[in-house]
Amino acid sequence: MYLKSLSLRGFKSFAKPTTFRFEPGITCVVGPNGSGKSNVVDALSWVMGEQGAKNLRGGAMADVIFAGSSGRAGLGRAFVELTIDNSDGLLPIDYAEVTISRTLFRGGGSEYAINGADARLLDVQELLSDTGMGKQMHVIVGQGRLDAVLRATPEERRAFIDEAAGVLKHRRRKERALRK
Ligand code: ATP
Ligand code: MG
Repeated sequence: MYLKSLSLRGFKSFAKPTTFRFEPGITCVVGPNGSGKSNVVDALSWVMGEQGAKNLRGGAMADVIFAGSSGRAGLGRAFVELTIDNSDGLLPIDYAEVTISRTLFRGGGSEYAINGADARLLDVQELLSDTGMGKQMHVIVGQGRLDAVLRATPEERRAFIDEAAGVLKHRRRKERALRK
């Protein structure tokens, strides 16, 4: 499994539709300060279901929508689409290529889709939960976050391991069942 491409439209500084294509192996994103490198990583977290505006370095979720710049008006929605190569079948879905997208409208309301079909956040989370990607994002260690990972309490460390081992999905299901 590897990330094949990431498309952004109206996400943070990416007002113009922009697509990044990745190959298996290591990808480096380089550029001057403020050019949008971290925004690319934020887009990855976001399309995989990130719910915390702070984790996306904003005050509110709507801050991910392109707010305008000199000479370009702000936009009404943010859209990110991630295509994952699943030819090894690691994702529990019967497709060799999986596309996840998320749209947020300025008026509020997020929409998700998996391979073009409407999906819920829960579907995206479950799809990714055995891969070590997804909800809690310990796979993505942001600028200045390394310290927090190193200083984790034993309970937090346990949650990282649960997530990596794919246990978190079952715990979440159990919690949902108990709430009913
Ligand atoms: P550094 O090298 O300093 O880490 P970077 O390449 O990671 O920089 P980012 O943090 O990704 O840069 O990008 C910051 C830029 O994104 C800023 O210019 C900021 O104004 C712009 N930006 C963030 N959110 C929005 C938004 N909603 N609308 C328009 N521009 C935005
Ligand atoms: Mg940065």
